[in-house]
Amino acid sequence: MVSKELDKSCKNCGDEGDCPEENPQKDVKCCLAVMSGKGGVGKSLVTGLMAVALKNAGLKIGILDADLTGPSIPKMFGINKKAKSGDGKIIPIESLNGIKIMSLNLLLDREDDAVIWRGPVIAGAIKQFWTDVAWGELDCLLIDLPPGTADAPLTVMQSIPLDGVIVVSSPQDLAVMIVKKALQMTRKLNIPTLGLIENMSYAHCPKCGEKIDFFGESNISEITKDYKIDLLAEIPIDPQIAKLCDEGKIEDYDVKFLDKAKNNVEKILKDKN
Ligand code: ADP
Repeated sequence: MVSKELDKSCKNCGDEGDCPEENPQKDVKCCLAVMSGKGGVGKSLVTGLMAVALKNAGLKIGILDADLTGPSIPKMFGINKKAKSGDGKIIPIESLNGIKIMSLNLLLDREDDAVIWRGPVIAGAIKQFWTDVAWGELDCLLIDLPPGTADAPLTVMQSIPLDGVIVVSSPQDLAVMIVKKALQMTRKLNIPTLGLIENMSYAHCPKCGEKIDFFGESNISEITKDYKIDLLAEIPIDPQIAKLCDEGKIEDYDVKFLDKAKNNVEKILKDKN
């Protein structure tokens, strides 16, 4: 089921090219949302690693943390400053390597303050993170969605001109079942899926190096086949990732497994030029 609001969205109004609502971020070349059916599968981690991989490739990157009630992006990048405003816009904070970041945690007095807001307030804040932040020139803005298919992801999909969605899952049957709901949502809203990333796919034994499938054999190929989408990457469980996330040093991680996802983004940018 998709809420009725969809009928009023730009994508479905039938007036393509003649939209009264101007794009407030004309210098942002490409917007990609990172989505998961359920929490805890590593969606924010994938957002962070994608940003690092794209930045390392020489692109100008921003992250809009739309996971307002569970923001983990600032911590991953070691950011604990408060964002300021200037010329009527909120200025995003730049990471050590120059990734522009906006998250509700950068506006709170304390990073552990709880945000207890109803859906419409959350939707309003997400929209403001798009319209009222001085993103400037970006090759790609990555949007870390909250898990699921409810209000907040719907707000992003209806108010930000997305070029695609990356869906993140883990190998457990439960996550795989729920990821299908996320994929159905993108289909119903006519948003292209860039592909699927499986996180926590496997691990290597630290003593003998043997590959271990912690969650049994993955069913991910069943989804990629059924939905005719690309498997962009399989990310291992790596204690180094967890350590760097906790230390706020995700930019130090040597991201090797996101080449296919990175190439797809570069292709989108090339096609737009
Ligand atoms: P989600 O956004 O889906 O709720 P997160 O991306 O915030 O989940 O992941 C939670 C934490 O789990 C991360 O900060 C990281 O410490 C850990 N984590 C996620 N994926 C991995 C991985 N592949 N290897 C090691 N730790 C991981």
